[in-house]
Amino acid sequence: MGTVYAIANQKGGVGKTTTAVNVAACIAEAGYETLVVDVDPQGNATVGLGAERTGPGLYDALTGAVPAAQAVRASGIPRLSLLVSTPDLAGATVELPREAGSEGRLRELLAPIRDDYAFVVLDCPPSLGPLTVNALVAADRVIVPVQTEYFALEGLAGLLDTLGLIQRELNPRLTVAGMLLTMHDARTKLAQDVEREVRTHFPELVFETVIPRNVRLGEAPSFGLPVIHHDPHCAGADAYFSLAKEVAARG
Ligand code: ADP
Ligand code: MG
Repeated sequence: MGTVYAIANQKGGVGKTTTAVNVAACIAEAGYETLVVDVDPQGNATVGLGAERTGPGLYDALTGAVPAAQAVRASGIPRLSLLVSTPDLAGATVELPREAGSEGRLRELLAPIRDDYAFVVLDCPPSLGPLTVNALVAADRVIVPVQTEYFALEGLAGLLDTLGLIQRELNPRLTVAGMLLTMHDARTKLAQDVEREVRTHFPELVFETVIPRNVRLGEAPSFGLPVIHHDPHCAGADAYFSLAKEVAARG
């Protein structure tokens, strides 16, 4: 059965999309059918995988205009499929809460297709709004990227509270796969301090793999490619391969 991972943190710019695109690409490269769902109206995962932001996409599937199976498209990368974010997905943030039971909409639309994939990766927007709640209700596991910067811990306790609430009220299967330290610059004392602090606060939860700050990772989306297809031997590619192994091992 396919496992659904949400990549979530209400903070922007912490590496959610980079993680969603690259961990999915590494899993596909390892031989597994993988689906990326771009749940963010900003559509960065869509563009980062070289796809057009034209329909059909997630919005059409959420509204029921198109069955999910018809909205999914190939990404050009073997075994990696994509449900894109079109600009009208922004409207879903307003439309969804008006309908009773709407927090389960993404889960319902994935139900008939999730088993076509070993892994489904949901790239969340930088908020705890209706789209993120939909993703957390649809997910089995959450990966929380944390940038090793000042204020890294701020908001994490709140996020874990929200995850607990969703688990109790809406999705008992939900567990935290792990927290992922991102954009790490091992040369700075600040980054080292933040890493130590996060590992001390959440000893069981933090992935051993740390994602370094890496120019190749930053520039890969402008080529519409995951880093392993942009520069397979860079430090960023190594790190996301290592993360994919750790994620698979944690099950
Ligand atoms: P989020 O989805 O949480 O908003 P992104 O994954 O889009 O964050 O990352 C924010 C910015 O930082 C993007 O421009 C991205 O390319 C860049 N970036 C992310 N991770 C790294 C990294 N490890 N090294 C260098 N740049 C990175
Ligand atoms: Mg993003």
